Amino acid sequence: MTLVDVSPSRLTDDDDDDEDDEDDDEDAARASTSLELILPRRRSAAAAAAAAGATGVARRVTRGTALARGAVARAHAIGGVIVIMMMTGPTAAVSDAIMSRALARAFASHAASTRAHDVVIAGGGVAGAALACALKSNPRTAALSVVVIDRARGRGDDELARALAPLAANAPPEARCVALTPRSMSFLEHGCGSWTRVEESRRARAFDVMQVWDGVGGGHVTYDARECGADALGRVVETNVVLAALETRMRELGVERMYGKTIAEASASDEDAPGTLTRVTVVDAASGSDAKTDAGGEVELHARLVVAADGPKSAMRKMAKIKVGGWGYGQRAVCGTVKTEHAHSTAWQRFLPTGPIALLPIGDGTYSNVVWTTTPDEAKRLTEEITAEEFAKEVNDALQGYGAYKSAHQEDLNRFAALRAVEDAAEATFKPLARVMSATLSRAVGVPPVHRDEDHTYELAPRFQYPPECTSAGEKSERGSFPLSTHHAFHLVKPRLALIGDAAHVVHPLGGQGLNLGLRDAELLADAVSEAAALGQDIGSINALKPYARASVAANVPMMAALDGLQKLFSVDAYPVALARSIGLAAVNAAAPIRRNIAFYAMGGA
Ligand SMILES: Cc1cc2nc3c(=O)[nH]c(=O)nc-3n(C[C@H](O)[C@H](O)[C@H](O)COP(=O)(O)OP(=O)(O)OC[C@H]3O[C@@H](n4cnc5c(N)ncnc54)[C@H](O)[C@@H]3O)c2cc1C
Repeated sequence: MTLVDVSPSRLTDDDDDDEDDEDDDEDAARASTSLELILPRRRSAAAAAAAAGATGVARRVTRGTALARGAVARAHAIGGVIVIMMMTGPTAAVSDAIMSRALARAFASHAASTRAHDVVIAGGGVAGAALACALKSNPRTAALSVVVIDRARGRGDDELARALAPLAANAPPEARCVALTPRSMSFLEHGCGSWTRVEESRRARAFDVMQVWDGVGGGHVTYDARECGADALGRVVETNVVLAALETRMRELGVERMYGKTIAEASASDEDAPGTLTRVTVVDAASGSDAKTDAGGEVELHARLVVAADGPKSAMRKMAKIKVGGWGYGQRAVCGTVKTEHAHSTAWQRFLPTGPIALLPIGDGTYSNVVWTTTPDEAKRLTEEITAEEFAKEVNDALQGYGAYKSAHQEDLNRFAALRAVEDAAEATFKPLARVMSATLSRAVGVPPVHRDEDHTYELAPRFQYPPECTSAGEKSERGSFPLSTHHAFHLVKPRLALIGDAAHVVHPLGGQGLNLGLRDAELLADAVSEAAALGQDIGSINALKPYARASVAANVPMMAALDGLQKLFSVDAYPVALARSIGLAAVNAAAPIRRNIAFYAMGGA
């Protein structure tokens, strides 16, 4: 009996002798780490592999002695690696079961000596990079070998330095920004060791107030960080800045990074046997999966745990045959940058029938990031067919309710103004009573009473404020748009596989929660791996991964439902619905404990 570990890339090689000698030298160097079959020609091996149904999964070929006539090929998957057995004469009659056991014993030493990784992360976006940093920053998991694979090209030192430097004068921030909650920032700092660099760049702008209002009925609600005993509800920052800080940290921590690469194949096993590994074939991203047949750029990795962090269209998730449930909104989110007449620290969001428009302070607060949900046609017009100046004017109109964006029920705004006058009178008269009621309600809903400083003015119902006037951020400011959908994977874990971030779930951006949920996944998965490592468990086993899946679903599903519900509720512009909605908003606005609860939830419970 002889054994082979066959390389599909080499199966297509011509039999050039010089090349073969070099190949044999390489093979000799690795001989101690591999079982191998000595074959006369590679094409024989190819035929054998094909006969055994193993084409494209075996690893190495070595030329050598002749293969006897009538050889029989069998493929056995052991520990995630396909081993081709060549048997001649009476040997062929030996049962597969006996051979499997023999190979399993042989593979035990093979697996031990193979250069295997503990964790392979597909996708080095914020979620994947944060997970890598969290694992390597935790003393319990710091010794694990972690590799991150991303199809994007790697960035040089200069690019990283530029991304982390304060904005130059008249250089607008990038259009792709995220609002991060205090919980996410805390994880990025204490779990990953990367947030300080973001702060030092002075490109993250804190917002302490958020005002949300109905563009049809006129009701509004205002959340204030001080009501939650916090300085800020969150910070708005360019996604690229967060990524640059994580990349710098990954370098410090010795995370292996493979950029410009993608995973063409993964030999997922549904078996959860201890010591098994998933084999991952990594190829040049530019060549796509066809690169498997190309000798250039192909690398094989063996991993105890593979993490899919490769975004909403996750190729890893598809390879694992995990389906998602969800729907598209038939809308796009337009992202852009504008300047404002003065620096501000409020997140403004007005709901229009076509979708919400948000104005979020960024940089020094004189710039604002715009996230505008609208129809695909409008998105095209706003991004491609108008100037930066015209864009700023449209943003003003949409936020202030002018021109095409005027509420059909503008007079109701006035009625609500009258209601606010009543609220003011009530507040002045019943302030002490309201304070007691608020404290009682706080206790009833389990939110700790807020400790205010003496000067802080208690507001029964915070007043509506108009957002600042916007002007152009210059023709160099970028605009782009993204399709919107919501979905959740049916499984977050399988043996040796976990899904995180947008690969696991996508939510509507109206609450600015997508990446915050992705970072929570990274935190929860890092905790689960750390726990398993401390207990001496197999970190890729389903038992080790299940606590992550349970906790992630518990965080994601209510948030997805809330955001989807809000999107649907605000997309109805029928007058009775709009009026009921606005009364609901006004009621929330007048109930401090409810406001506070919602704000706590949106802040990630921090
Ligand atoms: C308009 C808009 C506004 C948003 N605003 C907010 C906000 O304010 N707050 C918030 O929390 N969230 C927000 N989100 C959501 C947030 O942007 C996403 O949730 C987040 O970017 C997802 O991060 P991720 O790392 O999971 O995936 P991604 O950012 O998609 O990263 C995936 C990575 O995988 C790589 N990759 C993909 N495929 C492959 C492959 N086959 N092989 C190798 N590598 C691959 C990609 O190059 C990329 O680096 C917003 C989303 C939109 C559309």
